[in-house]
Amino acid sequence: MTVAAVDVSAQVEEYLEAICRIQERGEAATLTELARELAVAPPSALGMLRRMGEQELVTYDRRTGAVLTARGQACADTLRRRHRLAECLLTDLLGMPWARAHEIACRFEHVIDDEVETYLLDALHHPTTCPHGNPLGGETPALTPLTEAPLGQPCILRRILNESAALLEYLHASGLRPGAAVTVHAAAPFDGPLTVDAGGERFALSREIASHLLVETEARA
Ligand SMILES: [Zn+2]
Ligand SMILES: [Zn+2]
Repeated sequence: MTVAAVDVSAQVEEYLEAICRIQERGEAATLTELARELAVAPPSALGMLRRMGEQELVTYDRRTGAVLTARGQACADTLRRRHRLAECLLTDLLGMPWARAHEIACRFEHVIDDEVETYLLDALHHPTTCPHGNPLGGETPALTPLTEAPLGQPCILRRILNESAALLEYLHASGLRPGAAVTVHAAAPFDGPLTVDAGGERFALSREIASHLLVETEARA
């Protein structure tokens, strides 16, 4: 099924994306969680979920939270692909900073329709991932969270799951970009930080941050 993301409003699109992000973290998109993710008041989130229910984009239950319908999921997939394509446009064609691309793409994505998408794909030479390594669609290679990488084994950073500007700035300053070599030198006990080697430096990296980084082990590279 193909559903054009332009069928729904930009605000609805932001809700679809937020529900996706929450579900990807393995959490339930409850009203509280969704309101926090979108920085809105729970009553307005509830009103929006009702409207999205009428549009057959989500089902909502107070206990289990919002779940995307097949139509909602198709909309969300299209939107995410356009968001990532917009990021490529901002960094590759316009030369904007890598760490800013995600936030600005959130405004660009809503004006990309099928026609624009075709031209963008050509102009950008058909990228397969966004500048942060997240796929535009199709098959995704199996990757390992950095928290589970074997100690002392060189890995290649492939994918950054959390694209908040603050985290991206931090990773950029630490030399942690997709394609960068990274080795977990040591892992402190009791869920303490990892000591990693990257960009010619050895530094401590919190497990929270490391859990957002997916790597390919050298053996498979
Ligand atoms: Zn967005
Ligand atoms: Zn991205």
